[in-house]
Amino acid sequence: MYNEDDLVMISALQHLAFCKRQCALIHLEQQWAENRFTVLGEILHEKVHKFESDTRADCITARSLRLVSYELGLTGQADVVEFYRCKPEKSGIKIPGKKGKWLPFPVEYKKGKPKTDNIDRVQLCAQAICLEEQLVWPIQSGALFYGDKRRRQQVNFDGVLRLETIQLAKKLHDLISSGKTPAPNYSNKCKSCSLYNICNPKLSSLIKQKKYEEILFAEDE
Ligand code: SF4
Repeated sequence: MYNEDDLVMISALQHLAFCKRQCALIHLEQQWAENRFTVLGEILHEKVHKFESDTRADCITARSLRLVSYELGLTGQADVVEFYRCKPEKSGIKIPGKKGKWLPFPVEYKKGKPKTDNIDRVQLCAQAICLEEQLVWPIQSGALFYGDKRRRQQVNFDGVLRLETIQLAKKLHDLISSGKTPAPNYSNKCKSCSLYNICNPKLSSLIKQKKYEEILFAEDE
């Protein structure tokens, strides 16, 4: 169980999956501190009064909910959590000011199209685990909405996805608690890395390998 000082942003999972060094630069060295270190918000119960409601009687759409899991040591913000009204005989959670019982369903909006890896599903699963802890209610599924496709992709939070999420969160905390930023490892993905100029992966790799002649040559180019 983590405490409040240990909490890391859920988005760090994406950074870690992309590159350990990028993750450490952002979340350990706080290169983007002003954007990344949003303090833990109140738990959902305290925020429930601020829900925006849509016109549908059977669905409440809540936006920008603060999320936290002390089990995973993660915090963040949900794009959207929909709460669907249960049938009277079914069980669900109670929402202050609303009649009946409701089932939470997290939805994460993503630019572009679905990725080939699993990281978007892992991030959504981390959000679901946060909500489960906050609401004390199991969540079976959620959805990813991709801008290019303009449609939802349902994600089931099965045991395999949950395990992957827990393991990645553990790796994230191992990296943060090590206090060490890994050395760069230049690869194709560096070309799309937003921290390229801060990281300077080619130069850093050469320094690591003590290839001083190539460094001088690179500087003359
Ligand atoms: S430039 Fe490459 S090595 Fe450096 S942080 Fe980005 S992805 Fe990682």
